[in-house]
Amino acid sequence: MSATSPAPAAVHDAEAIRQALAAGQHAVADPATGYHRALYAPCPSAGQGAAVWRVVKEHGGAITQLTMRCARCGGDFVAAPEALYLR
Ligand SMILES: [Zn+2]
Repeated sequence: MSATSPAPAAVHDAEAIRQALAAGQHAVADPATGYHRALYAPCPSAGQGAAVWRVVKEHGGAITQLTMRCARCGGDFVAAPEALYLR
């Protein structure tokens, strides 16, 4: 048992994020509530959540790269899929 094992909720979110990117979407509809939960990633400089600004899609429609933009510092950065969270 590793101390770095993610909690069950995080595992669920990671799978939902993976499926959303494969479908070319940058939000996940929560089946329980119907709400759309947007993807975000922590800003490398400020640490606060930065929203999706630009996406690159492959021909099949899957998102292959996300660029995030931070509202606090105005910077943008490319987020790795494993660095993404759901609001
Ligand atoms: Zn920032």
